[in-house]
Order: sequence, then structure tokens, then C-alpha cells
Amino acid sequence: MKHKIFLSSPHIGHKEQEYIKNAFDTNWIAPLGPLVSGFEKELSGYTGVKHAAALSSGTAAIHLALIMLGVKNDDFVICQSFTFAATANPIRYQGATPVFVDSEKETWNMCPKHLENAILFCLENGKRPKAVIPVHLYGMPAKINDIVAIADKYDIPVVEDAAESLGASVNGKQTGSFGKFGILSFNGNKIITTSGGGALLSDDEELIKKARFLATQARDNAPHYQHSQIGYNYRLSNVLAGIGMGQMEVLNERIENRRKNFERYQHCFNQINNKGYNISLLPEAENSFANRWLTTVLINPDENKGITREKLRLAFEAENIEARPLWKPMHLQPVFQNFPYFGERTAENLFNIGLCLPSGSNLNDDDWRRIENVLFEVFE
Ligand SMILES: *Cc1c(COP(=O)(O)O)cnc(C)c1O
Repeated sequence: MKHKIFLSSPHIGHKEQEYIKNAFDTNWIAPLGPLVSGFEKELSGYTGVKHAAALSSGTAAIHLALIMLGVKNDDFVICQSFTFAATANPIRYQGATPVFVDSEKETWNMCPKHLENAILFCLENGKRPKAVIPVHLYGMPAKINDIVAIADKYDIPVVEDAAESLGASVNGKQTGSFGKFGILSFNGNKIITTSGGGALLSDDEELIKKARFLATQARDNAPHYQHSQIGYNYRLSNVLAGIGMGQMEVLNERIENRRKNFERYQHCFNQINNKGYNISLLPEAENSFANRWLTTVLINPDENKGITREKLRLAFEAENIEARPLWKPMHLQPVFQNFPYFGERTAENLFNIGLCLPSGSNLNDDDWRRIENVLFEVFE
């Protein structure tokens, strides 16, 4: 069997092991240390957000943001439906009610119009939502200025899920820097990785200090262990921050490679569409720069001789190549289907006809040959 081509596999640079060796040599093998602080400075510098807390995951970052915004039982939190479950799960950790919002067609992210309807629904039910969580899915920036303007109008803080979009920007301003909080993920499949990890970003220094405090078991300042709040064990280890330091050195190269993947797919599908198919890729909106974490396509069988995205996925699978349907919206998930939803069927339709293509920054010529063979066989 030929080696497996993954949707998005880790791509390590040259410096990571050097940083890790430094952690070992200095015996900083702890959930704090100079590499954690260094990684936080790098993240802050890159995103243009004043402060960053390096954490054990992106999910932990969302959870801490919601805790600091006071999200509790009986609160509403508005969340993009078209996302990965990790965006919504922390709302339930706090016992609050997620209110899901559909996507718009241009960026596939939170629809500002439906967002406003969801806010009005919460207000009519006597509760101001405690947070709005938009996502820049697949590294495509959402209409974040419109979303923030609506949230501001109703005085609701924005927690920007930039887990998939590190390096993407709108008018040159980085995703993750628009809301009260931004969150990043360094899971193994993301554009850069620490094998597992995340970060919380904010311009508010006090909030980031508080996040670090909560993430290290909420230990009060005393010689003994003293606690006046519930804490969490959410800090990133100094060893893993070493991987992060190395990965930050190659982040721009990784973005360049992912954007080249998109162009290569676009070239393939142009040829395929010239043969009577109509497969579409997602263009960037004006003034927006996508990191192209994953290249995605829409394959409407009515416009493609009956060929479905599932047929293409299975053809890839038969060649040991991973492809994955677009994320199934949260309001259609068994665990979330009874919560309020505002929108139409945009996200649902994307899920039904969309596919994520292999998009690693380390695809080689042989991998591409295998991928293109499948594409040109399925779409003859
Ligand atoms: C990966 C991801 C997360 C969660 O990050 P982890 O580091 O895996 O906990 C949150 N939101 C989105 C959209 C993601 O893709």
C-alpha cells in the first residue's frame, strides 16, 4: 500500500529540536518557563494583539474566555453553527445555552444578518448574550468587521475563534485581533503545531494575567497552597512551547505552501470545468487574505453529471488519500440539535456538497501525482 496522504499533517521545520534540547539542557520541563514566555511574545508580535497566554489547547482558550466573561448556567452564548465542535463545547462546560447562527455564502462564516436576529431573540427572552463566537473556518476570514459592529451595537463581547486561521487577515489586520479575545490552536493538524496546544489573545493585560492564573489551578499568592476560586490545569508545557518557537519561524512559509496548494487545485479544477463540470472553490473576499489552511470544493451533483462529493471522497480513500466532508453544522449534531438556531440552510448545504481536500504544507510531487490522478479519473 502506498503511504497515506493526510488531510493536514504536521510539518516540522529545522529549529524545533534545538529549542526542545534547550528545554532539556536547562531542565525547564514544566508548564511554565522561558520558552512559554518566548512563544507568547512571538504570538503577540505576529498577530498584533498586545498579550497572549499559551495554553494546553484551543478548547481550553475558549473555555477560559467564557469563564472570564462570566458565562454561567442560564446564559446565552451565540455561536457559529458551521464549525468544529470545540467552538461550542465550552459553552456547555459552563452550563450555558448555545444559540447557533447560520453562515453567509461569501466566506461560509457567521452571517451578520442572522447574528442580529439571534441577538434580538435573546434580548426578547430577557437575556443579553454573554458572548458571540464567530469562526474563520478553513482559514477564510469571516465578515469580522460587520460581526464586531453588530456585537458592539448590543454591547456583547466577541470571542474570535481563529483556531484554523493563524496568519489570515482582513485589511492587513490579523484574525484573532478583532474581538475582546482571540483564540488559536496548535493541534497536530493545524497550520502550525506544538503537537497539542492553544493560545488566548487579548489587548487587555489584566485578562491575560487572569487567564494564566486560572490555567495554573488558581493559586493565590501565599507560601502554602491557597485557593479562593476554581482553577484549571490548562498551561502549555515549556517543552511544547519549544516546538511552537520553531514553528513560528516557518509559519509564513507554511502559509505560502498552503496558498500554493489552493492555486494548484484551482488549476486542476479549471481544466476539469472546461470538460463540462462545475466545481467551485472559495475565492477570497475583497481585502481579505486567507491562510488556505484547507482547500475546499463544492460539488453539486446536479451540475456535475451526478458525481457527488462522496464519490470523490471514496475514490481518494481507495488510494489511501484522506479527504473529509465539510464540517457538519452544530445545529444538526445530535448533541446540540435541541438548542436555538437562526438561519436558513446555507451551512447545511455546504455540508451536503462540500469536501476538504488534502492540504498539507508538505505534499511532495509524488503525492500531487496521486491526488491529481484521482481527480482526473473521477472527473473524466
Ligand atoms: C481545532 C479547533 C479548535 C480547538 O482547538 P484544540 O487545540 O484542538 O482544542 C477550536 N475551533 C476550531 C474551529 C478548530 O478547528
